[in-house]
Amino acid sequence: MAVLPLIYAPHPVLDRPTTRISKVDSKIHKLIDDMIETMHANYGVGLAANQVGIPLRIAVIQGPDDIRPLIFINPEIVKREGRRELTEGCLSVPGYQGEVGRSVTVKVKAMDIDGRLFRIKAEGNLLAQALEHETDHLDGKLYVERLLNKDSIYKIERDLTNDEEDSNHTAPSAESR
Ligand SMILES: [Zn+2]
Repeated sequence: MAVLPLIYAPHPVLDRPTTRISKVDSKIHKLIDDMIETMHANYGVGLAANQVGIPLRIAVIQGPDDIRPLIFINPEIVKREGRRELTEGCLSVPGYQGEVGRSVTVKVKAMDIDGRLFRIKAEGNLLAQALEHETDHLDGKLYVERLLNKDSIYKIERDLTNDEEDSNHTAPSAESR
């Protein structure tokens, strides 16, 4: 496994929709392993493949309380319900956080690492937020396009030593994805 270099905005690979995977082979498995390691190394809650410069429709998500990462190949949001306002950050936009509008309930259809279709529903939690954030990435969108208004983004002083403590809070969360 390897920690891959992150791509930062502005960059065209972050602005373009990614390509769906037709076959889950050993190359895809290797990429997913590297994405998970990269997410962990950067204290991220999620990572989309185009954030490491690979324009494929793959995302990984692991919240602070999750024992293992969730893997999404060709994820599609099949249902959204409700609306809430949340604080959000992104590994591709370091040093900033913003206030964004997100759904309360999010249902996603995707393939797992063995190429099997599965569905997942998240409601009012960090996973619901991360599912929208990561599928946005794979559609070529950054959270800064979801800001409540143009002033709802601000600089943060990122102190990594506090991340352990922060991870004990479940909501509202501002971890980077
Ligand atoms: Zn992000």
